[in-house]
Amino acid sequence: MEAALGGILAVNSGGSIVFMNGHTEQMFGYERSEIVGGSLTILIPERFHEKYAAAFRAYFEAPSVRLLDMNMDLVALRKSGEEFPVEIGLSFVQGEEGTIALGFITDVTERMHTRDELSRVNAELVRSNKELENFAQLASHDLQEPLRVITSYLALLNRRYRKELNPEAGEFLDVVTGGASRMKHQIENLLNFSRIGTTASAFQHVQAGSILRRAVDNLEVTIKEQSAEITWDPLPEIFADSSLLVQVFQNLIANGIKFQKDGIPKVHISATGQNSEWVFAVRDNGIGIEARHCERIFQMFEHLHSSSEYQGYGMGLAISQKIVARHKGRIWLESKLGEGSTFFFTIPQ
Ligand code: ADP
Repeated sequence: MEAALGGILAVNSGGSIVFMNGHTEQMFGYERSEIVGGSLTILIPERFHEKYAAAFRAYFEAPSVRLLDMNMDLVALRKSGEEFPVEIGLSFVQGEEGTIALGFITDVTERMHTRDELSRVNAELVRSNKELENFAQLASHDLQEPLRVITSYLALLNRRYRKELNPEAGEFLDVVTGGASRMKHQIENLLNFSRIGTTASAFQHVQAGSILRRAVDNLEVTIKEQSAEITWDPLPEIFADSSLLVQVFQNLIANGIKFQKDGIPKVHISATGQNSEWVFAVRDNGIGIEARHCERIFQMFEHLHSSSEYQGYGMGLAISQKIVARHKGRIWLESKLGEGSTFFFTIPQ
């Protein structure tokens, strides 16, 4: 007991301290000669005496091993008068002088500070996330309106006055129209991204295969245009929000088809069960990604190629990551430049 790294205190059924180890001495600031033989109450702030005495009697009436943990907010008193939070593991032994309670005491001051700090920081994070989400939603929503005016008047200009413009002015008009259309997509992406966090989700037990099929149906035109081959293994039943998850499959498959050099795009989807989660894999035979970019591409607006090479908005993976996080899963990839990529994501079983 002397070698124990925590405090050990023995008390008899009358509430007298019969033993304490060195660590308890340090913790409370008493020499054992000062308090062994005396009442346990010396180690407890006065306002708790009655409450703790009642609990103490109850424990002696039904002696069993129990943990009086941090959530019970137990308070102890040092010789200096300072109060501090403790956690106590209790067990009982039968001695010649009757039942003895053995308390294994830990000073949890540090842990309480850490816990409080963590929950404060967490609350702050939730608040600032919410603020950011609201901001993104408001901003993208409010941007839609003026953009609608721009695009409809561009269309009007094109329809009514195209013939009167010289060829160069016509080209300029096309460039502006293209820019407005990309902006519309970006704003829709942003709105979509911010809604993932705010709209209520509809989690259900669903067949991952049927979600995948919906994604493939949505991509029908692209698949035909590129003569892509999409194949998959039997997929499990999962607990998920299918309207969200369909976007993940769709984004990953669309990327697998898009980021190709030449040849037929091939994308294969499979799933394995590991450590109480499903690991989905979407493998392609495309251009691959250098290892140093593998984290960056999940950020908003990140793309590795110019839009003349590969059209895109850099939102697909950011949206997919957010959806997977909503399912308490992770997303990552393995790839080699020129040898295709495999994107993995998990869904808890
Ligand atoms: P987008 O496809 O609209 O550009 P994403 O967020 O879906 O945006 O992807 C981000 C970037 O990651 C892409 O621009 C591309 O550079 C890279 N990337 C994504 N998927 C693949 C893939 N299967 N193969 C190669 N590169 C990829």
